[in-house]
Amino acid sequence: MKKSIYYSLLMSAMMSVAAAEETRQVDKHEHGVGELNIAVEGSAINLEFMIPGADIVGFEYEAKSDSDIALVNTALSKFQDLENIFTLSSSGNCNLVDAEVEINQGDDHEDEHDHEDEHDHEDEHDHDEHEEEAHNEFVAHYSFTCGNVKEIDRIDFPYFTTFPNSGELEIQFVSEVGSTSFEVEGDKPFIDLKGKI
Ligand SMILES: [Zn+2]
Repeated sequence: MKKSIYYSLLMSAMMSVAAAEETRQVDKHEHGVGELNIAVEGSAINLEFMIPGADIVGFEYEAKSDSDIALVNTALSKFQDLENIFTLSSSGNCNLVDAEVEINQGDDHEDEHDHEDEHDHEDEHDHDEHEEEAHNEFVAHYSFTCGNVKEIDRIDFPYFTTFPNSGELEIQFVSEVGSTSFEVEGDKPFIDLKGKI
């Protein structure tokens, strides 16, 4: 018994480390599918979006022309003004305490981190194959503290109208009540959180 508790603690510690170091493999994402992790802990709610550049600006190579750079900068500023992306129901009385928006270029991160040692050979092949076809993601993280976090009963996603190239959002949601997932698309751009916080 003790051993298995220790093991699961160890696993969650390892997963936190992995998340912190962004070992996520950008090259394996699916265009048309953005990911969003939502975590409610105490009076805090955190949202982290990881969206393929294809869904945001329509390309994933490094912007070099003036018009591409302008597209990327406009997209980043839209993420910074979070009402373009999502709105929490006002009943939660939440205040934004931190927001970070960046572009995650896949190739560099794979080189830096060798967590999946067993798969070294596979990784190298994958890496070579993908070198001509660059991938990147927009990563946006928002943290709030809320006067009444349990009153958040809905999150709307103007994201879908802000970015017409967007596809679906795959959402992983976790709170004290438990974890659940949602698939959201532009025709019904919200999630219902009644009873889930
Ligand atoms: Zn891609």
